Amino acid sequence: MNIETDVLVVGGGVAGCATAYYLAREGVEVVLIDRGDVNAGASGANAGSIHSQMYYHNFNTRSAEWIDAFAPVLPLLKLSSEVWQELAAELDRDIELVIAGGLMVAETADQLRLLERKVAFENGHGIASTILSASELATLAPYISDRMVGAEFCPYEGKVNPLLATVAIAAAAKRLGARILPLTDLEAWAPAKQGFEAHTNRGRIHS
Ligand SMILES: Cc1cc2nc3c(=O)[nH]c(=O)nc-3n(C[C@H](O)[C@H](O)[C@H](O)COP(=O)(O)OP(=O)(O)OC[C@H]3O[C@@H](n4cnc5c(N)ncnc54)[C@H](O)[C@@H]3O)c2cc1C
Repeated sequence: MNIETDVLVVGGGVAGCATAYYLAREGVEVVLIDRGDVNAGASGANAGSIHSQMYYHNFNTRSAEWIDAFAPVLPLLKLSSEVWQELAAELDRDIELVIAGGLMVAETADQLRLLERKVAFENGHGIASTILSASELATLAPYISDRMVGAEFCPYEGKVNPLLATVAIAAAAKRLGARILPLTDLEAWAPAKQGFEAHTNRGRIHS
């Protein structure tokens, strides 16, 4: 193998396949390699949850400085939910995306107070999360234990099927001209006079 390309993407998980897809959509010549196969790593073996709120654990245990430093991520989480929805409409197959909102429940009054503070923080950074009372929670999600005293509801959250999503994105990238090479392991790379020289188990790729 001796390949010249504009861009080499290493790794056929959701990050690499999406990078290849968006580059190919812009007309960039792109080669994606994976030492195994597309979607054989974490991207094909996760819970498929699309999160747009801050983790309770982080809000509860991190320092005020850490939480402030995290704040710019919140609008990106909302944006990522929108990107998933655009993607689901663009791809030629169903990736079982459902954005129906996500809950974080409180078992105690203390936890609910913390969620109220979390919601206020998120609202200040572009996330329209709200607090549900116990009865509102029971109406929205009757399967949840009636021991819960309330919950946070974040409207942008949802699920995608991890067995389908990355594979569909890779197929779309391919249709747009991206070359996808499985069983191609990046063993070394170095800056070249122009661009980069990548050495794989199957030969050289210059990008
Ligand atoms: C149990 C679990 C549950 C999770 N749940 C969620 C969730 O609900 N929601 C969420 O958003 N995230 C979740 N995640 C995290 C999410 O799965 C990862 O953040 C995401 O899949 C990372 O994608 P990636 O493309 O960076 O990596 P990967 O999907 O791991 O892909 C990396 C690819 O790179 C290839 N590679 C590595 N080195 C080389 C090399 N030298 N040459 C060629 N190829 C190489 C690998 O073979 C692999 O295919 C979860 C993760 C786990 C493990």
